[in-house]
Amino acid sequence: MLVTGGAGFIGSHLVERLLDRGDEVLVADNFYSGMRSNVHHLLRNPAFELIRHDVTFPLYVEVDEIFHLACPASPVYYQRDPVQTTKTSVHGSINMLGLAKRTGAKILLTSTSEVYGDPDVHPQPEDYWGHVNPIGIRSCYDEGKRCAETLFFDYRRQHDLPIKVARLFNTYGPRMRPDDGRVISNFIMLALRGDPITIYGDGRQTRSFCFVDDMVRGLLTLMDSDPSFTGPVNLGNTGEFTMLELAELVLDLTGSTSAIVHEPLPQDDPVRRRPDISLAKEALRWEPATALAEGLTRTIEHFRESADT
Ligand code: NAD
Ligand code: UDP
Ligand code: UDP
Repeated sequence: MLVTGGAGFIGSHLVERLLDRGDEVLVADNFYSGMRSNVHHLLRNPAFELIRHDVTFPLYVEVDEIFHLACPASPVYYQRDPVQTTKTSVHGSINMLGLAKRTGAKILLTSTSEVYGDPDVHPQPEDYWGHVNPIGIRSCYDEGKRCAETLFFDYRRQHDLPIKVARLFNTYGPRMRPDDGRVISNFIMLALRGDPITIYGDGRQTRSFCFVDDMVRGLLTLMDSDPSFTGPVNLGNTGEFTMLELAELVLDLTGSTSAIVHEPLPQDDPVRRRPDISLAKEALRWEPATALAEGLTRTIEHFRESADT
């Protein structure tokens, strides 16, 4: 198994599950937003191999399956070098699809709910084409992933490649970077430090948060699904929360007395987001099992432990 982006947050959990079930795993990662420490504990495992590689460059290895995750997911990281973000999604996907074509490997893309942009259909089903700004600050990520999906489906139509496309909604859990910039890691770090919780805008925008273990189970189920099932398929938790509700929950679970402050809302920040997961339930028999309070508790524990070490 090749896992691109395997030193990242979701990737490192996926790699653990693959090794647990007896697979041999090769991780290719350029450590742009991931960390070697996420997979450090696996380095002694003879079934595990790690290479520093940027997927925008060709990669010649022999593999049976490719989980193509490489791409920064946090707005702070993907907007830091937006041209590289587009290259990662577009050139990176071309290279991994070329690799899949040469080796005959099955290939799975972790696409995103961002393909729906700031949605005017709610909740979002897979057949909704989205409402995406092509020239804004989120476009490098959104349009990059949309083009990656196009490439996946064209390689299937043109070269008959076995593909799988998952559209992940906001995912959280242990091993998110404390400086990641995403809302859950920000709120937890601020609460634990006793610093003010930064809510962007009025805090009434919503997101749906999926715990990483549920997401990884979804990705594995999709990869092993019937060859005729390509997706795109939404993977996410259907619980929908405002950022104000999330802030209150984090304060409650951490026991923090941090104040709440409001900061300007970034450009093109989607107002509402919740997945319609009917397709995943029907085709994959998959649905999340972890409630937000439970997942947050486990994530808070992780951040507390990391701060101690
Ligand atoms: P992450 O930033 O922790 O992981 C991404 C990994 O890809 C990192 O290890 C990074 O170093 C690596 N990477 C980035 N550019 C690369 C390149 N050019 N070559 C090689 N490696 C590269 O993010 P994550 O949350 O683990 O996200 C994993 C995947 O899931 C991404 O494709 C992301 O778009 C997708 N996704 C995540 C979420 C979420 O909420 N976490 C939501 C939707 C989609
Ligand atoms: N590629 C790769 N590893 C491989 C095979 C191909 O990285 O094992 C890259 C190669 O650099 C190429 C891209 O994948 O540019 C697309 O390959 P494909 O065969 O589709 O296109 P072509 O080589 O005909 O341009
Ligand atoms: N957000 C916030 N405070 C923060 C970080 C993010 O209020 O410290 C908001 C952000 O504006 C967005 C939501 O939380 O409305 C989710 O942001 P995140 O960056 O986690 O993911 P995305 O916007 O890509 O869903």
